[in-house]
Amino acid sequence: MEWEAVIGLEVHVQLTTESKLFSGASTRYGALPNTQACALDLAMPGTLPVLNEAAVAMAIKLGLAIHGQIARTSSFARKNYFYPDLPKGYQISQYDEPVVKEGYLDVALADGIKRIHITRAHLEEDAGKSLHEDIKGMSGIDLNRAGTPLIEIVSEPDIRSADEAVRYLKALHALVRYLGICDGNMQEGSFRCDANVSVRPKGTTTFGTRTETKNVNSFRYVEKAILYEIERQTNLLAEGGTVTQETRLYDPSTNTTRPMRSKESANDYRYFPDPDLLTLRISDAWIDAMKAELPELPAAKQQRFQENYGLSAYDATVLVGSKELADFFEAVVSLSQAPAKLVSNWVTGELAAALNRDNKDIAESPISTNSMAGLLKRIHDQTISGKIAKTVFEAMLAGEGEADTIIQAKGLVQITDIESIAKIVDKVLLENQAQVDAYRAGKTQLFGFFVGQVMKQTQGKANPEQVNALLSERLT
Ligand code: ADP
Ligand code: MG
Repeated sequence: MEWEAVIGLEVHVQLTTESKLFSGASTRYGALPNTQACALDLAMPGTLPVLNEAAVAMAIKLGLAIHGQIARTSSFARKNYFYPDLPKGYQISQYDEPVVKEGYLDVALADGIKRIHITRAHLEEDAGKSLHEDIKGMSGIDLNRAGTPLIEIVSEPDIRSADEAVRYLKALHALVRYLGICDGNMQEGSFRCDANVSVRPKGTTTFGTRTETKNVNSFRYVEKAILYEIERQTNLLAEGGTVTQETRLYDPSTNTTRPMRSKESANDYRYFPDPDLLTLRISDAWIDAMKAELPELPAAKQQRFQENYGLSAYDATVLVGSKELADFFEAVVSLSQAPAKLVSNWVTGELAAALNRDNKDIAESPISTNSMAGLLKRIHDQTISGKIAKTVFEAMLAGEGEADTIIQAKGLVQITDIESIAKIVDKVLLENQAQVDAYRAGKTQLFGFFVGQVMKQTQGKANPEQVNALLSERLT
């Protein structure tokens, strides 16, 4: 039997507000434990929460960006559970009246665009953290994170594979960064995902029993966790077993998931409206103001890149994958005046590979937009060939200076003088008479050999198009 996976993701996005969702304490990451937890975050009796307007503004922007409905009235509820990092005994969240409902995200897959529907996005506060390694024989509680604003974005079970899940997550990650509502730092937990996975016989329409794998904090781990769950559940069902609905934990060291607790249901949490907080009312004027503040979003930018720069859908998708990358590309096009396709190839090719090698983000690129433009200018005006450009690029990475400096210092200027190239071509043909005869007798795959010889004699500096043209002419 063929099986099909059904996947829904719950993504927790930490908002970039200065202060917490209901208190004035700072949200800065990395401070000494419990230095950023005020009386309210410590759940002192008599303290009262006051909603942070900036967090609501961010929720509105997200709602607009995912084409969702922004609730004109919504409310906060208490989600009750006991845990040492939650001194209040409840988390303030939104339950039956979330701030955003029914949106979607269009995600580029290998074979086209797929629309993934978003059930809801709601505001909630984060809990504190238990620290098990800092004090010998004891666990410590750090409440710096308690009360940090989150938006939880819940997708419909529209996703059908681990690959689709990762693409959806990457699109959402790019979106919140474009909006400037999240720093996207997955290692620090600013963007984390719970993966709900079930499987069913392909062709059937009812959903199978799902498991929820918690807090997977990298794209690669999400993919691995989902692949493992699909495999585990498929094997279980194929053997006639049943899947237990439960919460599981992913272990990156073994690439497996294991049970953490049986799945709690909404009833267990005894949700009820928080009596300390008023109904949240959002006016049309506020929504309009937020709309006016929206930046150009990935989908629109991609379309503009295709139309204005004549890029393929693929190239445009890669470039708009991060706002910094898109900005870098546009700056280099404008500074170098080189063709967009050429710039795109270099930015998503050589540069991306070099950054990847050093595990760096485009924002940390050792080569500035100016330097990159300097290199592209010289490729475009044919001072150097694309091949020599790679040598120059490596030297730039090694800190040897600007493209022009390196080209001069290493004597890499391309030979485009047709007379000089013709001389070398003729010399090569003369020296390799046997190969010339073989070529003329039909062994045309020898063409590359001649090109290679010319390049060897010019240390790769001959203009490749001219070499090709001259060789074709001489050999016929
Ligand atoms: P809970 O509150 O228990 O986490 P929700 O109904 O809010 O449950 O669903 C959470 C997530 O689980 C959603 O993203 C939803 O799309 C997904 N989901 C629901 N049913 C299934 C299923 N049978 N298989 C896979 N995912 C599912
Ligand atoms: Mg859930």
